Amino acid sequence: MKSNTNLGIMPPEWAWEFHGHRCPFMPLGYRMAKLAMKELRIEHEKNHNFFVSLELGIGHPQTCLIDGIQIATGATYGKSLIEKTFWGKLAATFYSPKNRAIRIALKPEFLDELGNHEFFAYRKKGVEPSEIPDEVTNKAITWMYEQPDEKVFKIERLPDYKLAKPKSSFNKTKCAKCGEYVFERYVRFKDNKPYCIPCSEYEK
Ligand SMILES: [Zn+2]
Ligand SMILES: [Zn+2]
Repeated sequence: MKSNTNLGIMPPEWAWEFHGHRCPFMPLGYRMAKLAMKELRIEHEKNHNFFVSLELGIGHPQTCLIDGIQIATGATYGKSLIEKTFWGKLAATFYSPKNRAIRIALKPEFLDELGNHEFFAYRKKGVEPSEIPDEVTNKAITWMYEQPDEKVFKIERLPDYKLAKPKSSFNKTKCAKCGEYVFERYVRFKDNKPYCIPCSEYEK
């Protein structure tokens, strides 16, 4: 058996619980994020100083990556530190103001080989990950961890990366119709009265 250091970057047990099932893409996202953090020399984010821009979209597989990325980095949806560009690509940019940005994409050759695993034959037949036999899932996960970083990831430094970040505000107003609070940025005025977007019949 060949020696292998990548297995040391397995997600903790609670990560599987949080994610809900075992699959190869959650730990792959975890591994991808850990690599970005090593390159940028940063730790798990406590507050709001680290951002991830995901190039994934909706309605395609492999979005399980996102949970692994959030778990590793602490750049979570709840902290508004992660966003999607909806480009439908398996790549992400990791941005830390001091250490700048790095983009990591999954290499097509690696994805092709991973896709040949029996795990994906089950998925294509519509079998949910939690219903797939453990040995089939574990085989795909173990294989993924056996592949060296150079084979899995394409890494680029982005020295000129600019992050468009909206200014945060704590101000909120009560909607004149439903009486619920709405944060300032989202208030719409009609006849000088404040409304939330659904009550304003605001058209996009
Ligand atoms: Zn998953
Ligand atoms: Zn309302």
